[in-house]
Amino acid sequence: MIFGRGQKKKIKIVDKGVEKWIYSTCGYCSTGCAIEVGVNAEGKPVASRGVSGADVNRGKLCVKGIFEHELFESSGRGDNPLIREHTHEGYSETDWDSAFKTMAAEILRIQKTWGRDSFAIVSTGQLLTEEFYTLGKLTRGVIGTNNYDGNTTLCMASAVSGYKRSFGSDGPPGCYEDFEHTDALIAFGSNLPEQHPIIYWRMKEAQEKRKFPLIVVDPRVTALAQSADMHLPITPGTDVVLLNAMMHVILDEGLEDRDYIQANTNGFEQLENEVQKYDPVTASKICGIDEDTIRTVARLYAKAGSAMSIWTMGINQSTHGSDGVVGINNLNLVTGNIGKQGGTSLSITGQCNAMGTREWSSCSGLPGYRYLENPEEREEIANFWGIDSEFFPKQRGLTETDIFPAIETGEIKGLWLVATNPMTSMANTARIRKTLAKLEYLVVQDSYADVETTQYAHLYLPAATWAEKEGVFTNTERRVNIVRQATQPHGNSKSDLWIFNELSKHFPQAKKPEFPEAPAEVFNEMAELSKGRLVDISGMDHDKIEQNRGIQWPYTEAQAERGEAPKPGGKRLYTEDGTFSYADGRAKLIPLPFIDNNEVPDDDFPYWLNTGRVVEHFHTRTKTGKLGNNNKYSPIPYMEINPDAAHELGIRQGEYVRCVSRRGDAVVMAQLTQRVPPNMTFIPFHYHDCVNRLTLGLLDPHSRQPAYKQSAVRIELLADQKAAAKMSMKRRDF
Ligand code: SF4
Repeated sequence: MIFGRGQKKKIKIVDKGVEKWIYSTCGYCSTGCAIEVGVNAEGKPVASRGVSGADVNRGKLCVKGIFEHELFESSGRGDNPLIREHTHEGYSETDWDSAFKTMAAEILRIQKTWGRDSFAIVSTGQLLTEEFYTLGKLTRGVIGTNNYDGNTTLCMASAVSGYKRSFGSDGPPGCYEDFEHTDALIAFGSNLPEQHPIIYWRMKEAQEKRKFPLIVVDPRVTALAQSADMHLPITPGTDVVLLNAMMHVILDEGLEDRDYIQANTNGFEQLENEVQKYDPVTASKICGIDEDTIRTVARLYAKAGSAMSIWTMGINQSTHGSDGVVGINNLNLVTGNIGKQGGTSLSITGQCNAMGTREWSSCSGLPGYRYLENPEEREEIANFWGIDSEFFPKQRGLTETDIFPAIETGEIKGLWLVATNPMTSMANTARIRKTLAKLEYLVVQDSYADVETTQYAHLYLPAATWAEKEGVFTNTERRVNIVRQATQPHGNSKSDLWIFNELSKHFPQAKKPEFPEAPAEVFNEMAELSKGRLVDISGMDHDKIEQNRGIQWPYTEAQAERGEAPKPGGKRLYTEDGTFSYADGRAKLIPLPFIDNNEVPDDDFPYWLNTGRVVEHFHTRTKTGKLGNNNKYSPIPYMEINPDAAHELGIRQGEYVRCVSRRGDAVVMAQLTQRVPPNMTFIPFHYHDCVNRLTLGLLDPHSRQPAYKQSAVRIELLADQKAAAKMSMKRRDF
C-alpha cells in the first residue's frame, strides 16, 4: 500500500515521565552544547534535550548528546575501590580510606627510592575545570612530581604549541559567530559533521545565508569535503608546504595586509625569505595540490574581506603539527585576519574540557597560562597557595608521550592515570602494553572499572562521571559553561574533586595548600587567580554562568561591577585594540622549513593509513561502546578501502582483512568507498586492539604530539572469514 502525506502514521514521542529538567553541559566533545537532563519522580535520569536559549547549540544535540543520560547506569561502571598486590592476581574491594593510605604510601616510597619525578601522573580532557585546578595543586604543590601531563597531548598539544609560538600564549582567538561574518573559510583536516556536528550546523546555517566559499584540505573525501566548494586532497603530512606556497603567492602578488603586518607583527622578512622557496610548481610536487589550485585558493583567501581557518587533528596529529598551526597563524597574520569578525585562526578542540585543562590544570606550567620557567609566576602561585616557590620545578617536565618511553627505560616507576585509556589511545599499543607491565605501581582512576588499563593496575579508584558532580567546562570558543549535578554518583564512586582533596590529606608536608571542598569555592579561587590574565574569568561565578547559558572569557570583575552583561556570543581575542601576549605586544611570523620525516608507503607497505572518528562514538568508546543507540550504528572496526584497490587485492565489500604495519596487525571489515584514494585506507580510532596497533606515532618536536595519520600498511584478505568475523564480533560488546 502507498501512503500519502495524510495517511502517514504520526510519530509518537514516548512519555518518559520527566519531573524535572536539570541544566548541564555535554560531556563529550568541545562544542560545548548546553543540555538538560530529565529526571523522573524517583530522581532517575531518563532523558536529555538541548537548551533552546543557549547560544552554542540553540536547542540542538547530536547523536551522542541525545543519549547521554543513559551513561550513568551503563555497564562496566566502577562501584568500589579495588586493590591487589600483583597484577596477575584478582582484585579485592577496599574502602576509600585504605585506598588513599596505600596510594600515598606507594607514591612516597617510589619517590624516596627513585626520586621525586619517578612517579608520573597523566590526566585527561574529561574532568571539570575545578577538578583540573585541584589536581594541579595536588601535583605541583604536594606530590611534587614534574612528570605530569594530560592526554590532551594526543589531540591538542600542537594547537597549544602553535598558539604560544605565534601569539605568545595559548587561547583560540575566534568564536563560532565568526562563521556568520566570514567571506571565506578553509577547514584543514577537520571533518565537522562527524567530529563536531553542532559546530557544523552553525557553520552550515551561516553558509546558507551568506554563501561564503568553503575550502576543505583533507587527504580523504570526508563528509565535510563532500559539501565543500573546493576539496584539496593533500598528500598526508604536507600542510606546511601548501601554507608556505599560499603565502608565496600572496606576497608575490602583493595581496598581503601591509598595515596590519607593520602594526602587529615581528619577523616578516624572515618569513618572506622562507616562503620564496615554495613557488606553487615546486610545492605541488610535494603536497599533491596542483599549482593553479594553490594560486586560486591563495588569491581567494587574501582578497576576501574576512577569511577564517579552522582545523582539527588533520593538522595537529602530525610530525609538523605545531608548524602547521604556526603556518595557519602566519597566513592569517599576513592577511590581517586575526581579531576581526569572520577573520580568525580557530582550532576546533577535541574533548569537552580540553580547554579547561590547558587553562587551569598546571600540566604544562602553572594555573591561568602561567609558566614554570617564569620566576615571578612561580612566586605568585606559591604565595597564593601558601607554599615555598622552591618546591616548583623551574621548567616543564615530560609530556605523556615522553612519560611512556621513560617507563620503558626505568626512569619512571609509578603512574597514576586519571580518566584516560592509553592502551587504546596511544600509538603502537603493543609497546604501551609492555610498558605498563613494567611499572612498580599503577593507579587507574576512571568511571569505568572495565577500562582496558585496569588490566595492569594495582589500585582502581571509581570516579563519578559527568552530571553526577558539579563544575565547569570551557569549550572551543572559550565559553565557560556549567555542569550541574543531576544524579548521585554510581555505587560508591566519588567525584574526582573529592578524590584529590582526600588524597592530599595523606601526605605529610607541613606547608600545604588549602583544598576547598565545594566546586563553587574552587571556582572562586581560580577567578581570583585569573585577574588581569588573558584567561580572566573574575567576573563569573557558577550561578551567573548558568543564567547566561555559558560565558566566554575574558569576562572581568570590572565588567561585572559595571553591570556589563556578558555578550551572548562573538567575543574575540586580539581585536584591533588588543595586543598579543609577547612582551612587545606583537605576534611572531615564523619561517617554516619543511622536513620530510614521515613514514611513507613503499613496496612492502604500499598504503597510507589514515585514522579518525565516527559520529556515534567518542574517543576510546569507554562510554559510547556501552550505549545501545551509539554502539549499534558502529559496533565493529572497519577499514575504508577504494574499490580499485580492493579489486586488485580480491577483496569484496564486507569481507574481513588483515591490515599490517611495521608495528603490528589488526583485523577489520572492508568497506569499499571512493572516500579514500586507491593508495590510502582509513580506520576509525575508537576500537581497542585495532588501529593503534598499527600507528607509528612519530612525535612533533615542539608539541610532542604523535603523528597518528601518517603510517604505511599492507592489506591482506583473510582466508578464514568465519574466524575473523568471530574475532570482530567479540570486540563489539564490552
Ligand atoms: Fe555533545 Fe559535541 Fe554532540 Fe554537542 S556536538 S551534543 S557537545 S557531542
